[in-house]
Amino acid sequence: MMPRLCPPLCQPNSTLGKRSPGGAAFAGSLALMDLPRLRELLVPAALDAAARATFEVAFRRDEAGRPVVLGWVRVLLPLECQRCLGVMEHSVDASIRLMLMHGPNLAQDPPDPYEALLVIDDRIRPAELIEDELLLSLPQIPTHPVGVCQAAVQTSVPPGNAGDAAPTEVAADRPKPFASLAGWKADP
Ligand SMILES: [Zn+2]
Repeated sequence: MMPRLCPPLCQPNSTLGKRSPGGAAFAGSLALMDLPRLRELLVPAALDAAARATFEVAFRRDEAGRPVVLGWVRVLLPLECQRCLGVMEHSVDASIRLMLMHGPNLAQDPPDPYEALLVIDDRIRPAELIEDELLLSLPQIPTHPVGVCQAAVQTSVPPGNAGDAAPTEVAADRPKPFASLAGWKADP
């Protein structure tokens, strides 16, 4: 299904009606400047006026006949590192898996792997849906990875000693070249 350009307003019930049982797919991009709730959480000085989030969403029925929205959103967001207060580029590549929920379904939680998308009056604004997904993708406390962060205090293991040891069975079979040296050092 080739995605069409995303309209500002979608009507999922009509889209998933008898006229188009296969649903509809839309693609688009949104300027971060136009997403007020998200924009508040970004570093203004590092926010490119032209920065956009690209996305694709498809309104369809899944194998069980449930009305769902499937898609993805990708963007690079400038967040403030809470350790060094520098700018941290947060790369988002998120899957969208939502189940449309109307009146009678509201009491239930959506089945895995879906999140609920509340639909009122058969109206969905894709921009709000995408903004919600981006807000959900934000780390609770954004921080640079250890080693990249400019914060003065680092308690990490020096590179080369962490995690890249040879597989244990190989290491166990080999004589340890410094074992005797270590013994000699320990000897007073
Ligand atoms: Zn940092």
